Amino acid sequence: MNKIQNKVYAKRIIIGSLIFLLLISFVVLFFVLKHSSSFNKTNEFTYYDKSAFEMPKDITPKPPKPQEATSTAKFKIPILLYHYVENVADPNDTTRKKLDINPYTFEEQLKTLKEASYSSIFIREIPAIAKGKNPPPVKPIALTFDDGYRDFYTVAYPILQKYQMKATIYIISGFLDWPNYLTKKQLTEIAASGLVEIASHTVHHVALKNANEQVITKELVESKKSLEQIAGETVTDFAYPYGSFNDKATTLVKDAGYQTAASVVSGSFQSTNNLYFLYRLRPGGKVGKALLDWLERLKK
Ligand SMILES: [Zn+2]
Repeated sequence: MNKIQNKVYAKRIIIGSLIFLLLISFVVLFFVLKHSSSFNKTNEFTYYDKSAFEMPKDITPKPPKPQEATSTAKFKIPILLYHYVENVADPNDTTRKKLDINPYTFEEQLKTLKEASYSSIFIREIPAIAKGKNPPPVKPIALTFDDGYRDFYTVAYPILQKYQMKATIYIISGFLDWPNYLTKKQLTEIAASGLVEIASHTVHHVALKNANEQVITKELVESKKSLEQIAGETVTDFAYPYGSFNDKATTLVKDAGYQTAASVVSGSFQSTNNLYFLYRLRPGGKVGKALLDWLERLKK
């Protein structure tokens, strides 16, 4: 081998090594990114996947069975969706801030609704309205709170009492007594007030779309049972954690004995067709005329 050949070999080795290193870096980068996104998906505080706000593809509006088809009418019943009601202490806690409404704005919203003669109803009142068995109030509205955070007891509940507005709270039964969540004692007191309907949000905040059937049924049945023991009344309503559901999930919820299930798909008209994916709305920070105009303008 002469010197020129040696040089050519050395060059090839260097170029080969560089390509090899580059490939390794790509592989490492791929796994890091993949891991971080799957971590986010399972993280309790990374809330909604974009798809949660869209209708699942396998849901087709099915006409109700003849014996159930007491009404095909649609009723405008806006269902507002809340999580935290507090002044978030940690300014860096962006997830909590995104799920939060400050107490002042929340009170202004209730005041606005009350003064505009909106009547708050429980979610459990909706099936009879949708089926034409009970007439809806003139301006119905439902207030719903997901997850059962402790600030519901310390902040939201006193404001609801002040304005005598009904609300439905979707509880993660297995998280009761955990820090940040309601205690069983607080929930018992809330349930006894008659102002708040206790509803289920599974035992462990499980996304139903990808869970196995037995797990789903267990979550649905056990949360219902334990909440009924605390609330001292039948629990008939459910909300999908992360807004995650599909056609199979709607059937399992129905089979577990629930009368309704709330989604986070946006809309305000409820009917017998969507009792197992009730539409909900996020009011944001709207108060006064802006809130009323927004509610008036809803055409879907
Ligand atoms: Zn939730």
